Amino acid sequence: SNLTAGEIRTKFLEFFRSHGHNVVESAPLIPKDDPTLLFTNAGMVQFKKLFLGQEKRDYVRATTSQKCLRVGGKHNDLENVGRTARHLTFFEMLGNFSFGDYFKEQAIGFAWEFLTKELKLDPERLYITVYTDDDEASDLWQKVAGVPLERIYRLGEKDNFWSMGDTGPCGPCSEIMYDQGEHVACGPDCGIGVCECDRFLEIWNLVFMQYDQLESGERVPLPRPSIDTGMGLERVAAVCQGVYSNFDINLFQDIMGYTAKLSGVAYNTAEETGTAHRVIADHSRSIAFMIADGILPSNEGRGYVLRRLIRRAFRFGRLLGLRDPFLHKTAFEVVRLMGDAFPDLVERKDFMEKVVREEEERFSLTLDKGLAMLNEELERIAEENGKREVSGEFSFKLYDTFGFPIDIVNDIAEKQGFTVDENGYNEHMASQRKRAKAAWKGSGEADLGSVFHTLLEQGVRSGFTGYESLAEKSRVI
Ligand code: ATP
Ligand code: MG
Ligand code: MG
Ligand code: MG
Repeated sequence: SNLTAGEIRTKFLEFFRSHGHNVVESAPLIPKDDPTLLFTNAGMVQFKKLFLGQEKRDYVRATTSQKCLRVGGKHNDLENVGRTARHLTFFEMLGNFSFGDYFKEQAIGFAWEFLTKELKLDPERLYITVYTDDDEASDLWQKVAGVPLERIYRLGEKDNFWSMGDTGPCGPCSEIMYDQGEHVACGPDCGIGVCECDRFLEIWNLVFMQYDQLESGERVPLPRPSIDTGMGLERVAAVCQGVYSNFDINLFQDIMGYTAKLSGVAYNTAEETGTAHRVIADHSRSIAFMIADGILPSNEGRGYVLRRLIRRAFRFGRLLGLRDPFLHKTAFEVVRLMGDAFPDLVERKDFMEKVVREEEERFSLTLDKGLAMLNEELERIAEENGKREVSGEFSFKLYDTFGFPIDIVNDIAEKQGFTVDENGYNEHMASQRKRAKAAWKGSGEADLGSVFHTLLEQGVRSGFTGYESLAEKSRVI
């Protein structure tokens, strides 16, 4: 059908509006009043209280195109970006929601109608997954959509039970996969629930929201069963445009056309420079949207995630021969390409550019020294003939003196067949924090000092308080 991402977004919202859904604006990337969550990672986040029955609005059906970030926290796709064809750190999630109104049957009907009638996808290429014991969903897919039983798969908790984070609304889900064709299969055994390759591309997740996951681990039923769905706009755009990768859709081709022009290195999917183009394009989007939503580079919490994205993208620039600060330009290009749909981006573009440029400039002063030290260290370890592992102490030193985030060490070390002792790194980090705390206490301004320090720890800029616990679970923080 060759629809652009923008056209699909409009079609989706119009379709659900015509079926009685209130079109609601995307919430910001920083979840409002929700200290348990690092970033908005799904469309349902802004409706959490409605699902829990803690808030009422004058509508029971809603539809959105939600800005999402999946870097850090329970859903963390950073390491996948540039390596799979389907993962981005920033993406838009199209969703329709029912707050105690319709349930499984209508949700399935709407999804099927939108994909096969509005987008005109070939029904023969669509496959369905349902939660292990969800006979009802399996029956409805056959009855409502006419999907034959042999194209309905039953999967377990990991794939077909959805939760936003460690607590909050959740439930069994049913997903729609699109068969991209045998030519993209990962091998002879490739199949749904067997591999994680991109042949059967997951495009849409319908969550049958039934429970609230409590901190104690207990799951209690929600006041009324509800519907929460999420479809990745970039993924469905790829399917509509007949391309296999998110990065081959019109929007990404435009961004990478720009990085190709800047660097003089053409985008070639299979080459190593292709990964660099993809990482830079992906991170440029995240960076532009994060700053427009009020996140600034820092050493803590959300700001540290932003700092890592900037530094990681900047490092990948080296692989394209980009030595001078360039990311502020690629992020600016994102604004040019996406500004029509996101006015906030346009409004804050000059500020955004300045923040990125300053961060790049600072990092560029130390990047080469750090890279040289890392390469020396790798050579030294290789000569020792022992375990090919970079010590936590060394990674921490790189971070401490050159601002080298651990994921850059990972990227480089892994490619040359080394592992990195991340636990050791985290231990050094933790003891540095402790020392910093002790230093504050001894400053003679105990009261002021501890208040300030607490605020710092909580990531005062964005009011995030869940950092310490998330840090243990996530590689990004
Ligand atoms: P995957 O298994 O491919 O990692 P997921 O199961 O984690 O996806 P969900 O949490 O079900 O994804 O999110 C709903 C939809 O959002 C997905 O079906 C997909 O279309 C889209 N989506 C999820 N993660 C990403 C991402 N990192 N980049 C682009 N789109 C995404
Ligand atoms: Mg995922
Ligand atoms: Mg999945
Ligand atoms: Mg899913």
